[in-house]
Amino acid sequence: MVTAYCVKCGRQDKEKGKNKPMKNPAIHQTAKGGFMAKGKCPDCDTTMCAMMSKVNAEQAITDGAAKNY
Ligand SMILES: [Zn+2]
Repeated sequence: MVTAYCVKCGRQDKEKGKNKPMKNPAIHQTAKGGFMAKGKCPDCDTTMCAMMSKVNAEQAITDGAAKNY
C-alpha cells in the first residue's frame, strides 16, 4: 500500500490528512531520477503525491500495489 498526505483533508485537521492509502497509485520517475507515487485521496479525490525511494517504488510495483509508468 502506498500512503501519502492529503493537503485538502489536512486543511481542516492536520492529523486527518496523514497516511491516507492512495487510490490507484502509479509510480512515476522524476527528471532527477527519483521516484514518486501519484494517486487520489480515498476520501476527497484530490491528487496526492509521495516521494519514494527506489527500493520502495520497485517493491510497490512488485507487490502490485502500484502501477508503473
Ligand atoms: Zn483528501
